[in-house]
Amino acid sequence: MSARILDGEAFASQIHRETSSRVTALAQRGITPRLVFIRVGEDPASRAYVSRKETRAKEVGISSHTMVLPESTPLATLLREIDTLNADPKVHGILIQSPLPAGLPNDQVYARVSPAKDVDGFHPVNFGKLLLGDPTGFLPCTPAGILEILRLGKIPTKGKHAVVVGRGQIVGRPLAVLLARKSAHADCTVTLAHSSTPNLPSITRQADILIGALGRPHFLTPDHVQPGATVIDVGVNRIADASNPRGYRLVGDVDFASVQTIAGAITPNPGGVGPMTIALLLSNTLRAAETTLS
Ligand code: NAP
Repeated sequence: MSARILDGEAFASQIHRETSSRVTALAQRGITPRLVFIRVGEDPASRAYVSRKETRAKEVGISSHTMVLPESTPLATLLREIDTLNADPKVHGILIQSPLPAGLPNDQVYARVSPAKDVDGFHPVNFGKLLLGDPTGFLPCTPAGILEILRLGKIPTKGKHAVVVGRGQIVGRPLAVLLARKSAHADCTVTLAHSSTPNLPSITRQADILIGALGRPHFLTPDHVQPGATVIDVGVNRIADASNPRGYRLVGDVDFASVQTIAGAITPNPGGVGPMTIALLLSNTLRAAETTLS
């Protein structure tokens, strides 16, 4: 058996088309959504991520700009820049690219972005709205993108057992809450596993939907998977590869080659969750711009 591929690029294109047509409609009312990225330092992966997001933004008609600050930027300077963008009515979304250099406190920086422009969904107000099920908040892009993969991939969720491996703040924790919500395309029974979970394979083998969000290369193997389960691979891990000009390649948390022979459906990696994260970022930005009309 070979699993059905949940093609994140194709699903993301579908979302981009919807975003693009709403951007066009908004432009007719005189508003072009604008997204500003703040990148602190020259981390090569961050440069590549921001550049990919900028390219997609342009394709759907969202105007974007990247503010690059030196690695040594003091906290006060970064917070001042965020305040300026918060106050600029032409800017609808602000994304601070992680990781921030050591010494800059993530929580304090993310909490400085106006919740109305927090298109990444990391602000405590938006996190609180997620917990409360308040639809006026912005959902974090990766968990929201995973829900869209399940919806567009027509994976049944109601009453299914979802096991999320990894309780990180950006993916696992909010995803577990979203999957447990009483709503269409969720309504799962959820187990949130982590590094202290004993006998992990015995838990993950109970999953109808298994999500790897732990950041460990090729960690989830057929031993962890119930035959026929849906497997979503969130991880982005660097492993050494002498045959690659960069000296490394990126792999997921799932051992795709072996797991695809037993899973019912599976996301490729790359080409699964990553493109959906960008699609949801741009649709959040559009919604932030649309909200300024109401
Ligand atoms: P994180 O904050 O470091 O959290 C990792 C989680 O995995 C922690 O809860 C940790 O448990 C758990 N874990 C680590 N080793 C484990 C093990 N052996 N068994 C069970 N659980 C284990 O990471 P994150 O920010 O959530 O990111 C997770 C992965 O997703 C990373 O590879 C990241 O690059 C990727 N990611 C991808 C996208 C995308 O768009 N594709 C977006 C965001 C993140 P403890 O809590 O017990 O330490």
